Amino acid sequence: RLMHAAILLAGGKGRRMGPSIQDKLLHPIGSSNAFRLSSEAFLKASSIDAFLIVFRDSSQKEKLQNEFAIASENVGRQADPVMVKGGLERKDSVSNALSACDQACEFVHVHDCARPMIRPETINQLAKQVCQTGAVIVARPMKDTVKKALDPSLPSDTPQNTESVDRSSLWLMETPQVTRKEWLGNGLQKAEELGLVVTDELSALELTNRKTTFLDPKYPNPKITTSSDLSYVEYLLNQ
Ligand code: C5P
Repeated sequence: RLMHAAILLAGGKGRRMGPSIQDKLLHPIGSSNAFRLSSEAFLKASSIDAFLIVFRDSSQKEKLQNEFAIASENVGRQADPVMVKGGLERKDSVSNALSACDQACEFVHVHDCARPMIRPETINQLAKQVCQTGAVIVARPMKDTVKKALDPSLPSDTPQNTESVDRSSLWLMETPQVTRKEWLGNGLQKAEELGLVVTDELSALELTNRKTTFLDPKYPNPKITTSSDLSYVEYLLNQ
């Protein structure tokens, strides 16, 4: 069986969180936190062979190591994660993790630990699918009506012309984003050459014309960005 590595991204600064919350990934959610919940989901997934944790600084590194150890204890699975220092942008953090990845690793599962609702069965499904297609992204078809403001420089309270966007071809990207390690490496290298800041893995694959498939998990997998998202996730966990 080919090897799958989880890249658990926790190296961001969470700038949109406001001053009251130090680290959105370690902030209490019930008796847990987003990083521990994400770690537990990946530890429970039997398809995942190796773990890389991307941290921001040395003080956070220690806390993440401790949280991962608790997750590992809770799940009853021993694992020795590789700790990787993050970079300036998300793509730099992913690049650093790819460099630290074991040679033998064929597939990478890149996950924003700010999405703690991901389930192990989804991770196993992604692992199965990526072996057949080379890339698969957790994504959701757009359900809302989408409008484009024709003059994006106008503030929202100024009357403006709009037009409809055909939503039938639109997908909302989430994580995990799972690809062949080689495909992602080539895509990120291309982005570097072109001087582009790609904000997700699929954006990197697009630069080398790689195709992807989508997996709609059919349950909420929100990203914690602002403090109200923390309450929402707590509410979902209590359901
Ligand atoms: O800031 P945002 O929530 O969009 O970041 C998505 C994920 O990527 C988070 O889990 C964050 O910790 C991670 N990240 C990172 N390194 C960066 C920026 C973001 O690991 N330089």
